[in-house]
Amino acid sequence: MSYKIIVFVKQVPDTQNITGEAMKPDGTVNRAALPAIFNPEDLNALELALQLKDRYGAKVVVGTMGPPNAAEVLRESLYRGADEAVLLTDRAFAGADTLATSYALSCCAKKIGDFDLILCGRQAIDGDTAQVGPQLAEKLNLPQISYVQEVLELDKRHVKARREIDGGYEILEVKLPALMTVINANEPRPQNGRRLMKYKKARTASELAKDHANANYTDAEALAAEQENLAERGLMIYEWTAADAKADPERIGLKGSPTKVKNIQNVILKASESKMIDPTAQGISQLMHELISDHTLG
Ligand SMILES: Cc1cc2nc3c(=O)[nH]c(=O)nc-3n(C[C@H](O)[C@H](O)[C@H](O)COP(=O)(O)OP(=O)(O)OC[C@H]3O[C@@H](n4cnc5c(N)ncnc54)[C@H](O)[C@@H]3O)c2cc1C
Repeated sequence: MSYKIIVFVKQVPDTQNITGEAMKPDGTVNRAALPAIFNPEDLNALELALQLKDRYGAKVVVGTMGPPNAAEVLRESLYRGADEAVLLTDRAFAGADTLATSYALSCCAKKIGDFDLILCGRQAIDGDTAQVGPQLAEKLNLPQISYVQEVLELDKRHVKARREIDGGYEILEVKLPALMTVINANEPRPQNGRRLMKYKKARTASELAKDHANANYTDAEALAAEQENLAERGLMIYEWTAADAKADPERIGLKGSPTKVKNIQNVILKASESKMIDPTAQGISQLMHELISDHTLG
């Protein structure tokens, strides 16, 4: 028995290394100015999918919506154990809020088709909303389990998983197909050396055309032949536009995004003044007196 699992992964700006040019005047992220990394919890979602593949047998398809260089997180997923990759890329997707993002990903999932599970990270470290997974489940009319730590059981009809809740955990079982958002509760496996040697050649059609152009190689037939050759060896990364995914142009990108970031402010945290208290009865009594008189206590 084999399953088909889609994992949605996002390339995000490294929020540990924010610079002054991080935001554009329109309030959207200036991705070109920041180093790009694999969203951390999406690595946990991928790891969970690969564990299910090891335990039950599965085809793992990774998908992302992003600019052409987001293909990098797809290649990284292939190095770790994913079987196929899809890049949803089109200028029309730019400026999407969570509503437009989850709609675009729902079109992508429908085009991939015939899936048993969709896994997402709980949250992306740039937008930080944790809305995309749940919204995607709603759009596809799927049962969902959020904050998943571990899958306990999987069969062709159900999945049973343990999810984190405040102060403990909860075990839920839902019917397949289903969507789960995954938290940082496993150790993502490293990239596999043999897979890296194989999949470093994986390309989207645009990347391949760019490689040829950079080499001043303009033979269209040679390009088509190489594309066919890579496809036969499982090394083509699918590249879909909004039209390929049959996405309604009114529901994607800035046009389909009711959320507008009105203002971005830099917050500079300053250490407040510190005060030494003598560890004596008199010091403590004086502190209590001050706390009561400024109404912090009492
Ligand atoms: C400062 C700031 C504030 C913002 N505020 C809002 C806001 O209030 N409301 C709003 O709607 N949008 C907001 N956005 C935009 C929002 O971040 C993006 O629309 C983003 O595409 C989706 O939201 P997220 O990053 O919060 O994803 P989350 O919902 O946190 O992501 C959860 C998971 O969904 C999957 N996922 C998310 N995006 C993609 C993708 N492009 N491709 C593949 N998988 C994906 C991943 O598995 C990810 O782990 C804001 C952006 C910024 C920079």
